[in-house]
Amino acid sequence: MTVSDSADNQPSSETSHLPHPPAHKGTTSKSGIVLGPDGKPCRTCNSARDMTNLSRMLTSGKGKASPLAAAIGPPPVDRSDCPPDVEQLGRSTWTFLHSVTATYPKEPTQSQKSDMQTFLSILGRVYPCWVCADDFTAWMKQPDNSPKLDTQEDFGRWMCKAHNEVNRKLGKQEFDCNLWKQRWKDGWKDGRCD
Ligand SMILES: Cc1cc2nc3c(=O)[nH]c(=O)nc-3n(C[C@H](O)[C@H](O)[C@H](O)COP(=O)(O)OP(=O)(O)OC[C@H]3O[C@@H](n4cnc5c(N)ncnc54)[C@H](O)[C@@H]3O)c2cc1C
Repeated sequence: MTVSDSADNQPSSETSHLPHPPAHKGTTSKSGIVLGPDGKPCRTCNSARDMTNLSRMLTSGKGKASPLAAAIGPPPVDRSDCPPDVEQLGRSTWTFLHSVTATYPKEPTQSQKSDMQTFLSILGRVYPCWVCADDFTAWMKQPDNSPKLDTQEDFGRWMCKAHNEVNRKLGKQEFDCNLWKQRWKDGWKDGRCD
């Protein structure tokens, strides 16, 4: 039995002071841009590319980017020190989450399993892209998808499966979960990470 079977994804008394349901929710506009609770485009829920296109549409006043503007694409500015869009936030978060699995104990105690279960439940409530968080939480609540926390290997594979679920949703290639440990813990067998 996994911890989540007994915890059933319910917030513990320790976490029940957190906003529930999330206070950071918004809506999706007709143009497909995700809005935050203030009605403005949510930066952490959209890609910088989509936000730029939206801004061009608004400034052109025609509701549609001109073919030239669409062909040229976004201006070549360095955005590396700007607030993150949905992609940058996602990459950083996956790096963090897979690194957490890589350092998770091989034989966790009940308390360590319980902490991780709590952490994952809270992540689904505070993740800054609310549409991502809603889908992730709904996926975790399905019986076959509850976090597998009995060993490091179980958890690493579960996280890979969770990431692949998002990859599928976004039309991206799935990752071979047999390789999760080389990618996130040991480095590739060819030695280039040594
Ligand atoms: C919980 C969560 C939910 C998200 N939901 C959405 C969403 O609903 N909509 C949206 O637009 N974006 C979402 N994102 C962001 C999205 O998953 C990507 O992070 C983002 O699109 C950038 O993708 P990327 O191609 O750079 O690589 P990422 O998907 O960020 O992956 C980073 C690296 O992880 C490795 N990797 C890829 N797949 C796996 C895997 N299965 N297991 C192990 N390693 C892997 C690869 O080496 C890859 O380069 C979500 C992110 C998180 C953390």
